[in-house]
Amino acid sequence: MEQLLEKYAALAVNIGVNIQKGQNLLIRSSISSAPFARLIVKKAYEAGAKDVHILWSDDDITRLRYDLAPDEAFKEFPDYYVKAHTDAVEQNHAILSIVSVDPDLLNGVPAERIAEATKAAGTALSEFRHALQADQISWSIVAVPSEAWAAKVFPNLETSEKQVDALWNAIFSATRADLDDPVSAWQSHINNLVQKSDFLNNHKFHSLHLRAPGTDLTIELPEKHLWCAAESVNAAGTTFTANIPTEEVFTMPLKTGVNGVVTSKKPLSYGGNLINNFSLTFENGAITDFTAETGYETLETLITTDEGSKYLGEVALVPHSSPISTSNLTFYNTLFDENASVHLAIGSAYSFNLDGGKKMSREELVAAGANQSITHVDFMIGCAEMNIDAIKKDGSKIAIFQNGEWAI
Ligand code: ZN
Ligand code: ZN
Repeated sequence: MEQLLEKYAALAVNIGVNIQKGQNLLIRSSISSAPFARLIVKKAYEAGAKDVHILWSDDDITRLRYDLAPDEAFKEFPDYYVKAHTDAVEQNHAILSIVSVDPDLLNGVPAERIAEATKAAGTALSEFRHALQADQISWSIVAVPSEAWAAKVFPNLETSEKQVDALWNAIFSATRADLDDPVSAWQSHINNLVQKSDFLNNHKFHSLHLRAPGTDLTIELPEKHLWCAAESVNAAGTTFTANIPTEEVFTMPLKTGVNGVVTSKKPLSYGGNLINNFSLTFENGAITDFTAETGYETLETLITTDEGSKYLGEVALVPHSSPISTSNLTFYNTLFDENASVHLAIGSAYSFNLDGGKKMSREELVAAGANQSITHVDFMIGCAEMNIDAIKKDGSKIAIFQNGEWAI
């Protein structure tokens, strides 16, 4: 176990944020993940970090606030927290988030309260988010089991200890941390993904047509769209990997170019609540109708967050045979579940998904067809029956996905 943790921490520091000599690291972590956070701190200093700072959170305290704080509290957001983030961007620090949240943490909290809090945080941190979505600094997310999260993923194991162990093993396998040399395994995995994105970029497709049971959707792509995969480059020219694991090759839809119907294939954990078996109908990019077997209100809250939350910001291709998909586990955590399935994101687009986008102002991004929102939420639509055609400007087609797998 100790060895696996060491390898996993090394992945986060060397492949994830790829910390550089003399650079500072800001860690955002839950207190329940403190032992792993300490290991990250050690690895970061060993890799040459100048200094490491931590912003702690705690699930129980988060829940107490939602249950007991007065309404006014949810309209405000602390300046010091915003400043910690904008300073990190200005000074080229790396940021690592260690996530472990209980998927049911906010069960029963009124949806308006969650919406209010999301809006306050999203608005206060909008400058920071813009910088992240333009890859100004290196950032990454890794996950660590908490007891509540492990219980949700492995409800049939008898003890909490067994549940946590099982979730650790699932994470090690999904992130390739259980291989002999995870860092070099990651490098070749990244190369594979980049080959796919190069193919798609060379063809400059006009649109995609996605078909699966319950799904018939056309997605037009902006003229200057770029497919990306796994590895990013920050403003200082350093590579980093924002998500560990990552299996996706993704770009942005043209904001007003999405038409048809799409059906979810996995539960979506949003703001501590689950949305399940839902469908969205699009006209000229906007969601004009939606259904949900469970979590309808939560979905409505998400879609009505702001003007941009009615539109899409990402389309991502993931084969049905990805290691996370074949594990047959639902993690109830987007970091993992998005890598098991073709997915879309409601909300803002990443500016690096446009040629020259990293240097564009928000107005220029909008003009180029990129959606803007304070939210960005992935939801899973892929399955073994999914077929995707990529269509060129002249109408000719290439099947890029057949029966849930890459066809190129
Ligand atoms: Zn994604
Ligand atoms: Zn996404």
